[in-house]
Amino acid sequence: RLIGGNLESRQEEVQERALRPRQLDDYVGQKKARAQLEIFIEAARRRKEPLDHVLLFGPPGLGKTTLAHIIAHEMGVNLRQTSGPVLERAGDLAALLTHLEPNDVLFIDEIHRLSPVVEEILYPALEDYQIDIMIGEGPAARSVKLDLPPFTLVGATTRAGMLTNPLRDRFGIVARLEFYTEDELSRIVTRSARLLGMDMDEAGTREVARRSRGTPRIANRLLRRVRDYAEVCSQGCVTQTVADAGLKLLEVDDKGLDMMDRKLLQTVIEKFAGGPVGLDTLAAAIGEERDTIEDVLEPYLIQQGYLQRTARGRMATAAAFQHFGLPSAGGKTI
Ligand code: ADP
Repeated sequence: RLIGGNLESRQEEVQERALRPRQLDDYVGQKKARAQLEIFIEAARRRKEPLDHVLLFGPPGLGKTTLAHIIAHEMGVNLRQTSGPVLERAGDLAALLTHLEPNDVLFIDEIHRLSPVVEEILYPALEDYQIDIMIGEGPAARSVKLDLPPFTLVGATTRAGMLTNPLRDRFGIVARLEFYTEDELSRIVTRSARLLGMDMDEAGTREVARRSRGTPRIANRLLRRVRDYAEVCSQGCVTQTVADAGLKLLEVDDKGLDMMDRKLLQTVIEKFAGGPVGLDTLAAAIGEERDTIEDVLEPYLIQQGYLQRTARGRMATAAAFQHFGLPSAGGKTI
């Protein structure tokens, strides 16, 4: 998703879809979200009603899209997929909504990027299954109320804080997705390796899992690259040594940090003496968008204790200095 719509990322997208679990039983981890959904889905199914609207939030690659598809599958309904930035005009959303079948799932990715006019249309649709649309133009224009079939909106966003309050209030089920543990990622890598027909031992599996930034999408991507490496350079079972050599080639370090992670931390340490440094200054210094830092890079670095978010800006922790073999910031308390 990060590298836009180029060919490489589209191919990756297709390969990724083949690895996507289809039912809740195959969805690894996220115990809390899964436990909630199991009950609400079962209850809705028994009443033959749509599931309440669901908001999923968390960093990219943690399984929001996958979960939306699973919800539709478990409810036995269709899923229609779109995203906030794609729905430019009110009519775009109206067209989607009026084509839903009863109890269908409408999945809106990046829901925090809906335009205000589209959001306005969405409110009555979510509450009363009705929309008001304008027909015609100029003096002849009139507003028409349309009834919609009952449906479930599943919205996904990287940060719940970016949603407007009225929109957030309309979700009955809100689930925050967490980074995966090494054990959970090992299960995902084991399953993906089987689907890809790879020969891989347990230590090789663990090595990929451990260095995947707590993120299934990254685990699957690293796994495919390690497979390439193994096919060309080792022709056999993917052991820890083979996995390690493949990951080194990708510049994923021993702790699973990639080039961008290291660039961010090193910039805070070297250019700003460990911080604090404001987000905009940091973004300019590493040549990344502010949003990419907040959505993609920083959550994992904070969770792992390399970076801190303070009122005055971002600070590298002692663990970050240690990671690069540097003494902690001279006399500063971190
Ligand atoms: P998001 O929508 O949060 O960016 P996706 O749902 O696209 O993330 O997940 C990326 C990939 O990671 C999926 O294609 C799937 O193969 C894998 N994946 C995500 N969550 C899980 C999970 N809980 N169990 C197994 N595989 C998962």
